[in-house]
Amino acid sequence: MDFDFTEEQQQLAKAVGEFAAAKVAPHRHESDVRGSYRPGLLREMADEGLFSLRVPPAYGGRGLSAVGCGIALEELAAADLTVCFPVLNAALVGAVLAANGTEDQLARWLPPIAHGEAVVALGLTEPDRGTDAANIDMRAEPRAGGWVLTGEKTSIMVTAYATHCLVFARTGGPGARGITAFYTPLDVEGVRRERLSDLGCRAGGRGRIVFDGVFVDERDVVGEPGLGFVEVMRGFGVSRALIALMAIAVGRAALDEAIAHAGRREAFGSPIGTFQSVAFPLVEHVTMLHAARLVSYEALHRADAGRDPRVPANMAKWWAPKAAVEAVHQSLLTLGHLGWSEEGPVAQRLRDVIGLQLADGTAAATKLVVARQLLGREAAP
Ligand SMILES: Cc1cc2nc3c(=O)[nH]c(=O)nc-3n(C[C@H](O)[C@H](O)[C@H](O)COP(=O)(O)OP(=O)(O)OC[C@H]3O[C@@H](n4cnc5c(N)ncnc54)[C@H](O)[C@@H]3O)c2cc1C
Repeated sequence: MDFDFTEEQQQLAKAVGEFAAAKVAPHRHESDVRGSYRPGLLREMADEGLFSLRVPPAYGGRGLSAVGCGIALEELAAADLTVCFPVLNAALVGAVLAANGTEDQLARWLPPIAHGEAVVALGLTEPDRGTDAANIDMRAEPRAGGWVLTGEKTSIMVTAYATHCLVFARTGGPGARGITAFYTPLDVEGVRRERLSDLGCRAGGRGRIVFDGVFVDERDVVGEPGLGFVEVMRGFGVSRALIALMAIAVGRAALDEAIAHAGRREAFGSPIGTFQSVAFPLVEHVTMLHAARLVSYEALHRADAGRDPRVPANMAKWWAPKAAVEAVHQSLLTLGHLGWSEEGPVAQRLRDVIGLQLADGTAAATKLVVARQLLGREAAP
């Protein structure tokens, strides 16, 4: 067993880390206050190859492993969690399209994603359907040469920037088998978007997308009609481990800030780190995040080896965001009033990282997956 990254993976971490330190971290606070990414940032990220991570080289991408994608997202999340979302979407949607598209579709869809000309959103959640995603209400009715989408998606990250959406709609009867996936442009008649006002990740542009009789060409059906949920969604198997790593990176960055502070700040004549009640909680949180990181990378490693990543990915998704929220909270307390201030990074990190306890499924949704593996479907909740 080898716990070290390869030389190539270390270089990837270094390159993305340097980009994030120079181009992302210095703008975290102003982006949060403004509620949008720094103008020009998405183009710079595209030029850095951050939207091509999981796109196959034949279509202009880097064809990185799931582990490589995790490495890049960790580096970005440590600088500013919000900038991870378009990168995560490009990686997940790029990989899902690559696995389900025809030659013609891949040639049309993938190069624009890899080059950052297409910014993709993932449209699954609806006002009345979140965890219960197999029961979505949005309809797609057949028309000559395509389908007409009617319904609303909400809580969709990067709504404010997206040019395209991988959207799930009902084309058949009730349940998972009646759902079809479509890859559709958003600058078309009948699409309306609205920003949401959030606790954190404020630059991420989360919003509602209303589809009011939107025509989608039949060439833009992803996979077969009726297989959107049972086949296409399967491609998202590693998303939970990637999100876990994003959370861990936020937690670890906050802990590093707290550890530095504990060595600097003096009280009662000595650095506060010399007090066990300051040092030991930091040790405990570093331990938790370290262990959660191993589970997350195990999931990605399994996926890269062609094995089922679901159990460690779902373990990581319920555990890591919770451990990260607690780690950032402890870091804030260690920093005292400086931590509470929005002048420093930790307060924003806390607001931002809570969102990862919801995004792509709550702890309950992920524990259900693990419970069904452990207990069997009949004996699980
Ligand atoms: C930052 C952020 C980014 C997001 N990005 C996207 C995106 O890009 N695209 C997208 O489609 N969605 C996105 N979402 C939505 C996210 O996937 C949902 O919020 C999530 O799946 C939970 O659904 P819900 O909010 O409707 O909660 P609900 O499903 O209404 O759940 C409410 C509560 O009930 C619990 N619950 C529900 N069912 C069960 C059960 N069977 N057993 C036990 N407890 C249960 C849940 O755990 C939760 O605590 C995002 C959300 C956030 C916060």
